[in-house]
Amino acid sequence: MVRPGSRIKLADINPEATHGVKKADAEAHLERDREQLAVLQYMLYAEARRSLLVVLQGIDAGGKDGTIKHVMSGLNPQGVRVTPFKVPEGAEKRHDYLWRVHNVVPERGQIGIFNRSHYEDVLVVRVHNLVPKDVWKKRYQQINDFERMLSENEVRIVKFLLYIDKNEQAKRFRERLEDKAKNWKFSQSDIQERKYWDDYIGAYEEMLAKCSTSFAPWYVIPANKKWFRNLAVARIVRLELEAMKLKFPKPVEDLSTIKFE
Ligand code: AMP
Ligand code: MG
Repeated sequence: MVRPGSRIKLADINPEATHGVKKADAEAHLERDREQLAVLQYMLYAEARRSLLVVLQGIDAGGKDGTIKHVMSGLNPQGVRVTPFKVPEGAEKRHDYLWRVHNVVPERGQIGIFNRSHYEDVLVVRVHNLVPKDVWKKRYQQINDFERMLSENEVRIVKFLLYIDKNEQAKRFRERLEDKAKNWKFSQSDIQERKYWDDYIGAYEEMLAKCSTSFAPWYVIPANKKWFRNLAVARIVRLELEAMKLKFPKPVEDLSTIKFE
């Protein structure tokens, strides 16, 4: 977790790190976490008072889709919604950048997962100068204000930066080129974006420094090893839900008095 107010260097984080977890044990741990996530989601849904928002960011091929697939697969589809954020178009472009985001914040009882997010507006937008600097500069505070407002309105927010290194990205791009079943994922523009690697790192570091808050913390996940990435994200989401001390709502009437034939 990026301590609020601190500034980290991504170069100090090892994307290969597995923090003492053995691969052979990881699948069993993940399975247990997924089971617990399902139990917790059920309580969140029953309570219907609060929601959880999971934000996923990461460089191309960083594993956002894979994380969703492997970590969230035990959830009840009725209580979860994944929203991918693409290049804004149509009505999205005609509004402020948070409009499309606020619109899909999970409702009470639900889990929302953002595959990319409003953070693109201080990442790709900054790296490619899509708006002037004095516009994106103000967004860090705006995002904090927005997230604080959500957290004061029963939305719990947890944010993950999936952190791979350049070699791992190359390896994954190569797989996309070589594996027929992965060809569809390959995009020429990803190769273009790779040239901006260092700019993205700079943009990530500023985002982490300015927008990791007590009410919406950022976590940097070493993500070269998919099994570790999945386990780390699953465990943190589980701990977040546990920390909410979810409770089943009290029945509206005394059920013990109810009789029927
Ligand atoms: P993908 O995640 O591969 O489907 O690609 C989605 C693309 O949309 C990425 O290249 C993002 O950088 C881009 N994108 C997402 N949000 C924004 C935004 N607010 N402004 C510009 N580009 C965006
Ligand atoms: Mg892509």
